[in-house]
Amino acid sequence: MKVRTFSIVAGSMVCNARCPFCVAHMTPKNGIDKTVPSVNWRNFKKACQLARDGGCSTAMITSKGEPTIFPDQVTQFLKALTAYDFPVVELQTNGILIADGKTNRISDQHLKDWYEAGLTTVAVSICHYDSEKNKQIYMGAGSKPYIDLPALIAKLHKYGFSVRLAVVMLKGFIDSIEEVEKMAAFAKEHGVEQLTLRPVSKPDKSENEAIFKWTSEHHVEPTLEGEVNEHLRKVGKPILDLAHGATVYDLDGQNVCITNCLTVQPESDELRQLIFFPDGHVRYAWQYSGAIIF
Ligand code: SF4
Repeated sequence: MKVRTFSIVAGSMVCNARCPFCVAHMTPKNGIDKTVPSVNWRNFKKACQLARDGGCSTAMITSKGEPTIFPDQVTQFLKALTAYDFPVVELQTNGILIADGKTNRISDQHLKDWYEAGLTTVAVSICHYDSEKNKQIYMGAGSKPYIDLPALIAKLHKYGFSVRLAVVMLKGFIDSIEEVEKMAAFAKEHGVEQLTLRPVSKPDKSENEAIFKWTSEHHVEPTLEGEVNEHLRKVGKPILDLAHGATVYDLDGQNVCITNCLTVQPESDELRQLIFFPDGHVRYAWQYSGAIIF
């Protein structure tokens, strides 16, 4: 059984952002929980072994909420991963707690420790290159400003990490070829190593009606992904075909990839990803509890 990527769900459902498209924002108000969620470390080792035996070279620490709310747990995961020698180790975050600010929840020592433990890439979720636009999504209706994104990118580079901007495409935000070009220009200006774009996904209506309604209203045109690919093929250079059908382009020196992130490929014996949940369960799809290995 081949494994492409290995996702580790760290932290809890708690998040410090208020994205209207996310189920995590239904969790207690800005509830930065002080308790570190427990982890089934025995099964974590088994999951790592399974991923490595499947030839997986990338491990990504992610969360159902925001993993950096528990930075010491991120360190623990990274240290535990070193035994398996994944060449690429990534952390997916909204970046708010890493950015310089009032919280100082993540110290310089955390960043140094993460680098020493092998973290290669920090993938920062954003919705736009414009700070006000990101504020609308991440900071909710309040007056809190959004982080200084260019300063965050510079800080991550200073500590030795590669940066991926993971853009959620929304109507009224990054929703056209022109906006994709501006997003790529921003990435290039700030030396961002990788830029990925993904149309916002809709949950089932039954899961959460408010989020279903918001995402239905802000979903980009279904044809946009094909149009952007066609455009990038013309003005850029396709440099890599990924296993799940997406193509990576070089656009004037900037790495760009648009994907719709399908996770289940029932016809294939190749699992695109393994997902480790802190309670010890290992699955191969986010959306189906039945896609379980143990
Ligand atoms: S940052 Fe991520 S986890 Fe947090 S509310 Fe936004 S989408 Fe959800």
